[in-house]
Amino acid sequence: MKLYQALRHVDKFRTVFDFGGREVAHWFPGHMAKGLKQMRANLKSVDCIIEIHDARIPFSGRNPVFQDTLSAKPHLLILNKMDLADLSNKQRILKKLEKEGMTDVLFTDCLKQRDHNIKKLVPKVMDIIASKPRFNREENTNYCLMVIGVPNVGKSSLINSLRRTNLKKGRASRVGGEPGITKAVLTKIQVCERPIMYLLDTPGVLPPKIESVETGMKLALCGTILDHLVGEDIIADYLLYSLNRLGKFRWNFSFPNFVFSYVDKYDLQEPSDDIHHVLKRIAVKLGKTQRVKAITGVGNVTITIPNYTAAAYDFIRAFRKGELGQVMLD
Ligand code: GDP
Repeated sequence: MKLYQALRHVDKFRTVFDFGGREVAHWFPGHMAKGLKQMRANLKSVDCIIEIHDARIPFSGRNPVFQDTLSAKPHLLILNKMDLADLSNKQRILKKLEKEGMTDVLFTDCLKQRDHNIKKLVPKVMDIIASKPRFNREENTNYCLMVIGVPNVGKSSLINSLRRTNLKKGRASRVGGEPGITKAVLTKIQVCERPIMYLLDTPGVLPPKIESVETGMKLALCGTILDHLVGEDIIADYLLYSLNRLGKFRWNFSFPNFVFSYVDKYDLQEPSDDIHHVLKRIAVKLGKTQRVKAITGVGNVTITIPNYTAAAYDFIRAFRKGELGQVMLD
């Protein structure tokens, strides 16, 4: 698709998303409350909190409970999945975070075999710890970090990446799975030999109250809330709205050998803001159809229709894998 063709459609796109009177999701299962209680109880033995969040939403959905109750300790914010984020305006993000009091921020890609930012983590943590009083832990030569974050942001991947980088050891933490269903157990895992550093892995904890429907939608899009609690159809529509709003329907000239837009990936003629139309094209392209019975004037007939749910699922999954381009949702 040519750039001038794409630009013709810009004024046709939605500028606001209609959430259709949806309510903010309240999803704070018992194990999250229990996990938070355990975190507070273990704070005494912690030297630094590593808060990990999705780099595509550096401001939305970070748990205010963490800031309120765990703020007594030095704090490093890791914005992970930087490979999926559009960081062309990194300075804006850093400045805004600084205004919110977050001065120590590191962007990471935990899936990369050798991410140089992961290498920076231990020295950075040591600097942060050295700059603050160590309360009751001065005589202790071991260091203990606590990793916190909403579900599915990469806590386990970070631990594995740190072990790979600093200890040349493999997995200690299970990666993936459904967001937010981890049991409330705190596990202590070594992540560095010199200095000896341990990390307390914690369960993913969502904010007890998500600030707005839009924040909830962004969290869902990034895979931190179970899809079916929000609905694949509305997540897919919000994704389409976001990609169009951000102009992510064009060919990415920096990577001409990669398909980086939904228009190209699913062979659409042109960008569209109509989710029904887009999902239909996706279903046809992927051969995802379903046979349904229809009652007509001449009796029952079986017809083949596009499988919209399967198409929505593919669209969302492609986005989460970075196949539709890098985005900044905040
Ligand atoms: P946790 O629930 O916070 O422990 O998150 P996990 O470590 O289990 O990761 C959740 C999902 O995100 C997994 O599918 C990981 O492979 C993926 N993931 C983790 N870190 C990164 C990253 O830096 N980039 C990308 N693209 N995916 C990541």
